[in-house]
Amino acid sequence: MIANPPPWPNGARCAVAFSFDVDADSVVHAAHRAGARDLPQALAHMRYDPFVGTPRLADMFARAGVPLTAFVPGWVIETYPAAIETLLKAGAELGHHGHFHEWPSKQTRDEELATLRRGSEAIERFCGAKPKGYRAPYYGLSRATFDLLIEEGFAYDSSLFADDIPILLDNGRGSLVELPVPASVDDYNQYVSARAFDYLMKISPPSQALAVFREEFDAFWELGGLFVTVWHPAVSGRPAQALAIRALIEHMQAKGDVWFATLAEVAGHVRALEAAGTWSPRIEKTPFHIRNILE
Ligand SMILES: [Zn+2]
Repeated sequence: MIANPPPWPNGARCAVAFSFDVDADSVVHAAHRAGARDLPQALAHMRYDPFVGTPRLADMFARAGVPLTAFVPGWVIETYPAAIETLLKAGAELGHHGHFHEWPSKQTRDEELATLRRGSEAIERFCGAKPKGYRAPYYGLSRATFDLLIEEGFAYDSSLFADDIPILLDNGRGSLVELPVPASVDDYNQYVSARAFDYLMKISPPSQALAVFREEFDAFWELGGLFVTVWHPAVSGRPAQALAIRALIEHMQAKGDVWFATLAEVAGHVRALEAAGTWSPRIEKTPFHIRNILE
């Protein structure tokens, strides 16, 4: 039922890449600028991320022996280095997530390029290497984003609900691996009820959210796809939610035949299969439509 799933390492049935968007309070500053300091409730809600949620999750994943990928705005790395250090100690990959969590779709091409470079430099300063991967803040890609990522040498993007397995995005001058995200797995939909953000979802018990995530994983395990999470330490790093993640990892490990990997490892695997001629990904030409469909 998944057409042409890639062969995974060691004959695994599916690949799992746990990814977290470590936004901290960058989103509050990006949205409210100078007014952010008048919002201590919102700031504290999101500063839970570097002070509590991220170190807790980093420790939990290290104990479980499961790799993780963290998409971190550059400003968050510069402001909360101790939290980011806990991720590196746990062996996490750091991916690009803007500098102040800007909306790419609200920037000019030059502004978007400057943000890409600023965020990359922050990651390179901190861990000695440029990021390989990108996730658009708010999933808010612009029509220039793929071209800029290819020009800047990124290996992959992970922002689209485009497929159940990796695909290639090709703009005619280069290409990028897309590691798609299941449309259902963002934890905001499950857990976030915060007046400070005008975001009032009905609170789900973690067991109910876990059922959603587990059923998603079970389908990928059955069909051979790539399961990527998009979770946030300020949301999923809280006690009951973190224990639910631990239970999900135990469920995956009990089923077995799972390749746990960082997203950069998955992108590298895709390129290696392509180079060896053992598997060919679906290729999407970008832009998806070369002219307006309707005027
Ligand atoms: Zn984010």
